Amino acid sequence: MTNPFSTHRVTNQPPPFEDVNLYASDAALQDAVTREGGGHAARSLVAFGLVCGSSDAGERARLVNENTPRLETHDRQGRRTDVVHYHPAYHELMEISCAEGLNCASWLGLVKKADESSADQQVARAAGFYLACQMEPGHLCPVSMTHASVPTLLLQPGIAETWLPKVVTRSYDARREPVDTKRAATIGMGMTEKQGGSDVLANTTSAEPAGGGAGGAGTEYLLTGHKWFLSAPMSDAFLMLAQTQAGPGCFLVPRLLPDGTRNELALQRLKSKLGNRSNATAEVELQRAHGWLIGEPGNGVAAIIEMVTQTRLDCAVSSAAMMRHALAQAIHHVEHRSAFGRKLVEQPLMIQVLADLALDVEAATALVFRLARSFDRRQDEHASAWQRLMTPVTKYWTTKIAPQLIYEAMECMGGNAYVEELPMARLYREAPVNAIWEGPGNVLALDVLRVLQREPDVARVVMDDLADAVGDDPHLKAALSRIESILHEPRLLDARARSLVEGLAALAAGTILRSHAPAAVADAFIATRLGSLNRQTYGQGVDWADTAAILQRASPDR
Ligand SMILES: Cc1cc2nc3c(=O)[nH]c(=O)nc-3n(C[C@H](O)[C@H](O)[C@H](O)COP(=O)(O)OP(=O)(O)OC[C@H]3O[C@@H](n4cnc5c(N)ncnc54)[C@H](O)[C@@H]3O)c2cc1C
Repeated sequence: MTNPFSTHRVTNQPPPFEDVNLYASDAALQDAVTREGGGHAARSLVAFGLVCGSSDAGERARLVNENTPRLETHDRQGRRTDVVHYHPAYHELMEISCAEGLNCASWLGLVKKADESSADQQVARAAGFYLACQMEPGHLCPVSMTHASVPTLLLQPGIAETWLPKVVTRSYDARREPVDTKRAATIGMGMTEKQGGSDVLANTTSAEPAGGGAGGAGTEYLLTGHKWFLSAPMSDAFLMLAQTQAGPGCFLVPRLLPDGTRNELALQRLKSKLGNRSNATAEVELQRAHGWLIGEPGNGVAAIIEMVTQTRLDCAVSSAAMMRHALAQAIHHVEHRSAFGRKLVEQPLMIQVLADLALDVEAATALVFRLARSFDRRQDEHASAWQRLMTPVTKYWTTKIAPQLIYEAMECMGGNAYVEELPMARLYREAPVNAIWEGPGNVLALDVLRVLQREPDVARVVMDDLADAVGDDPHLKAALSRIESILHEPRLLDARARSLVEGLAALAAGTILRSHAPAAVADAFIATRLGSLNRQTYGQGVDWADTAAILQRASPDR
């Protein structure tokens, strides 16, 4: 018999959003991946979508964020150890993501695995990254850096010979061993110092040739100085900038030396961070640490920029993915929750908000996969120009809109979303980091100006392609001429760089949606993001749009 005094009745709460196939339930993602050349991976993405959306994955994500990495600097006898301990679930997540090839898939052709196609791997791999990010974004920091290190490692054949076979492999090996005894290796990045992150030329860490030699490409140096943010400090090696007599050099600095002893990287402490908590970020002192020079002394920035460009793509993919996850959670919630006599999803004002959010998610998804395709096809002049100009543009826009979009999705779910048991609070805390690392907004905007000034042909190719794509759409045409008018006032470019970048992102997204998305999505995105409406929050300006069609497409429960 039920107890008449019991208050514990749970009603009007949605079923858990788990054991969802994050790929099969995402129409915009599937369309973007197929359109941009990743359709060959559809079967494995369906399988991976299930893994990433499983309740087991959700539990691992919770565990690694509640049981954050712990630094042990010394052993019980006082010897330095410099070890970071992670929860076992962190290693499981790393194994899952590496087995999927997120650490290496774009480069498998390099290590000659006959069964691995190298065609359009960036798109397929970006799709896996998009799914894994919805599983747990923090552990993807070392996964992303490892994947991104390959173009830089390739610049120095001797180093590539040792490290590539361990880096380009679908496996994960957390053992503390020198590289030649390991199955797989991960790579981190050390650029930022206390006095400067964006301005890497101000780096003070110095490098002198080891053993009194002359130094030069591929040779050993001793590095002295510090790094102020060194994420994934248990990586097997780091690509680090340090000053040689000829200017900054890029060095491969292994955590352990070939004889198994520790390299002189003293971890001082781990950062206590807003989000990104499953990922450790250390402050480190280098005391004559051994490093091997990649490329010529003085060419370090050019060498490491290869890695940075690749990680910028991942930041954009990650922001699009987190926005998608927040939207999917919100739609699922409102489809099952009622207030004032009907389902939230039927309330006209809620429909406006959700449909509006869905527009940015679809636009961001379209942009990041177009960008991923340009990485795959760099030998083509148009793709290569798109990659150069649109990498900073796409990273700028996707990473900047993510925090506000995630916040609005959180609000759609009410108080439940503010509580740690759902992933929304975690997503919200995680989102800003994608904008800060690998180049904050102003730095990206300045990078776009650099392209305009130093590589005008690149900018012209992209602008011509956009001009071809606007067709007869009046909003797209007007947006294009606004950008052209900014470009024709070089004196004011510095001050208008953000308008330019934001305008380029919205225009590019609008043209892709116009050509490929359902009309309901394209019409509403273009009218609200490129028309004259002045708005600061979501849920405005789409009252005339086919919001039912937009929501139907965005719903994970279609
Ligand atoms: C969680 C986390 C992990 C990180 N992990 C790593 C890592 O593994 N390796 C690593 O090397 N770094 C790492 N970083 C550091 C990160 O890359 C830097 O914080 C970032 O590059 C910005 O550098 P900064 O913090 O020194 O800021 P600054 O360079 O001082 O920039 C501050 C602000 O000034 C703006 N600004 C800079 N120059 C100009 C200009 N000329 N005009 C107008 N505005 C300008 C920037 O856009 C920014 O908004 C990490 C950071 C975080 C938060």
